Amino acid sequence: MTSPSDNTRAALQIDRITMREIRLELREPFRISSGLMSARRIALLELFDASGARTWSECVAFQLPIYSSETIDTAWLAIREWLAPRILGRRFESPEEVHAVLEESVRGHNMAKAALEMGCWGLAAVLRATPLATLLGGTRDRVPTGISLGIQPEPVLLVQRAQAAVAAGYRKIKVKIQPGQDVEYVRAVRVALGDTVDIMADANSAYTLRDIEHLAQLDEFDLIMLEQPLGDDDLVRHATLQRRMTTPICLDESITSVDRAEDMIALRSGRIINIKPGRVGGLSASKTIHDVAARAGMPVWCGGMLESGIGRAYNVALASLPNFSLPGDLSPSARYWARDLVSPEWTMDLDGMVRVPVNRPGLGVAVDEDLIEALAVRREDLRPARVVVAAS
Ligand SMILES: [Mg+2]
Repeated sequence: MTSPSDNTRAALQIDRITMREIRLELREPFRISSGLMSARRIALLELFDASGARTWSECVAFQLPIYSSETIDTAWLAIREWLAPRILGRRFESPEEVHAVLEESVRGHNMAKAALEMGCWGLAAVLRATPLATLLGGTRDRVPTGISLGIQPEPVLLVQRAQAAVAAGYRKIKVKIQPGQDVEYVRAVRVALGDTVDIMADANSAYTLRDIEHLAQLDEFDLIMLEQPLGDDDLVRHATLQRRMTTPICLDESITSVDRAEDMIALRSGRIINIKPGRVGGLSASKTIHDVAARAGMPVWCGGMLESGIGRAYNVALASLPNFSLPGDLSPSARYWARDLVSPEWTMDLDGMVRVPVNRPGLGVAVDEDLIEALAVRREDLRPARVVVAAS
């Protein structure tokens, strides 16, 4: 048992990683501007420390490259071939050292890197017998959550879902939009919910600057933000749009690193950042972006990638940091899954708050390993290379 006095001295050394792919059925298909998802292919990592401690992490890459260029299959390849070999057998004094090792000479593949890097944070929390949230510097034991509502065929159907979400306690109603299903949908939701509910729209890069006057019509609805209206790799055009609109622009897809967050602040490309640890390469980068934004007076919130309860554990811990001052997309397990991979499942109270498991070490939830085994369609064990070939 680790005593508090040697918490900070616990080091990690991973001697095995088991990768599994599972298929988890969504309760209902989820539609965004770039496609429809009905089941989630999820890559899970089980990380074994040399001491015998172990934990789980999740790779958030989707099946298709609709959100970023990564997919579950590219992430699987990247982890197996290029990334895990750098981690396996190597001693780290702190999980904060892992990100730089993964960045060296491997461009991109942030979600693959994040699955490993976050697993190292989770493992460090286990080794130090500390809640992950505490290890990250979290300051709260409950975090507010919003809901993300997919695109509906008719405004009236969106309104019904938005009203049900408000009744359930959600603190922020996020509406996915795309050209042809935007201004009138948002208007219908605002009219139905009244002026006091926090509403936002997320376009997942479905517009261009040719739509600038059309998008400016959204200013009428007092949205708390408009998320990622323009190109996934764009900062300059978002700055142009932000100058035209009173609604704060929030960037999601565009913020892939600490540097990009600093560029966004310098260019005034928006006023809010959605932090997804998978998109930025893990928790160390997420923490730094959180700090950079705090210094600039810019609020952040934690986005979602249709994670299972394992990925959710990492997001909830991250969202307990102080500058996560807007509700995250941290919906309870039952919103997406008939049965989640963890117990207790993630729940939300009637005030729209999710409890941070600050009294339990590690991820703060038990992983249902029998269920994972039953759902697994692919499995691979990774170990340190036994033969080192000298470079010529
Ligand atoms: Mg988004």
